[in-house]
Amino acid sequence: MAAVQNIRERELSRPEVMQKYPHISPFVIIKTDVQRRGVHFSAAALDRVDLTVHQVEYRGFSREATGAVPVSLMMRDGSSILTGFTAKNSGRVPYLVDVVEDKIVLTDQGTVVEEVDYWEKPDYYGKETSNHIPMWQIAVARPQRIDIYPFQYCEFWDTPGHGCKYCSIAATYKKAKKPKYVDLADIAETVREALKQPGRYMSLFLTGGSILSGKELLDDEVDLYIKVLKEVGRNFRTPKFPSQLIGTAYTKEQLRRLYENTGLSSYTADIEVLNKEKFEWICPGKAVRIGYEKWKERLCQAVDIFGFGNVNTGIVGGVEMARPKGFTGEDEALEAVLSEAEDLAKHGVFAVQCVWTVAEGSVFFNQKTPSLEYYVRLSEGLDRLRRKYRISADMDNYRRCGNHPDTDLSRI
Ligand code: SF4
Repeated sequence: MAAVQNIRERELSRPEVMQKYPHISPFVIIKTDVQRRGVHFSAAALDRVDLTVHQVEYRGFSREATGAVPVSLMMRDGSSILTGFTAKNSGRVPYLVDVVEDKIVLTDQGTVVEEVDYWEKPDYYGKETSNHIPMWQIAVARPQRIDIYPFQYCEFWDTPGHGCKYCSIAATYKKAKKPKYVDLADIAETVREALKQPGRYMSLFLTGGSILSGKELLDDEVDLYIKVLKEVGRNFRTPKFPSQLIGTAYTKEQLRRLYENTGLSSYTADIEVLNKEKFEWICPGKAVRIGYEKWKERLCQAVDIFGFGNVNTGIVGGVEMARPKGFTGEDEALEAVLSEAEDLAKHGVFAVQCVWTVAEGSVFFNQKTPSLEYYVRLSEGLDRLRRKYRISADMDNYRRCGNHPDTDLSRI
């Protein structure tokens, strides 16, 4: 334990990482560190929130209407820092968004790091559906994407010990006391309304927790997404429309059913941890119900159906180093993760990282994330693989998603 602590004490600071990696955009380095360490807002920064202009809802599965902060930050280069989950008890000192010389800025222990702005609220946020549900509760907006979460729970949590250890969906679901399913008519109405805003969106996005039921495992999940995609697809004239689904890893038949019956244009199944042993420890439900090798195999099969460049997989960057069973050395962890990412890239599947945020309500609450340098090297490695295998990151780029520092590198 003491040895690990010493390693962490020798971590390079953000300015040192910037100096050591001058070819990596400083915006990407700042974004990564803010996500890794979390961010708080000063009273002055919150005073600059204009509820008529800015988006202040919590991101993702949570829909609390109180204690809201800006859902995200926008940097000067147009890239986003998603801040909806602020790490607590992560052993890291969070950044502070403050106001200095009349500008909203990110500060690190008193030093101004970079000017930031808040995301703008979309037009539909102030409206209600015919069922009198505020539309901001039905679909969440990113700067250029509409996000829909039709199923707000995850059935892996129904079996004790099967939830992913970094995930807080079950705790969030219980706390928010919300319905499991979002009403289909409300979704259709909200998307229709959102699309009236000219020029705002470039894609639609769907995700949610896993639904394990059905004739075959996951059939009900596939059926739900088919229903939602058919409904929102009425807004488009083309057979396929710009869209992404993050679902569970489906069988070839399920993938085909999804592709042939909807306008969905890209597919993601998050493997989360690119190492069989760590995957089995960290994502036990996925391991028992589907399995690591099968998850990879299904991703590769999805490329045959959705096409090259239209299939990827998300990883929770850094969680492979969680204690006590994760990798203890950053070099060893990087090598293991990138070699698995390369194996997938050879088959046209690219990996993207979400920076592991130690989430309240997760089994891994109270853990400490790896060094900033680790994340920078991971992003660099994932970007290098995409370039080597000539896979475009467009389906998950900084405009559509904005949550992956590695795909931010692909814009350069
Ligand atoms: S599959 Fe894992 S990460 Fe995804 S919602 Fe379920 S428990 Fe959470």
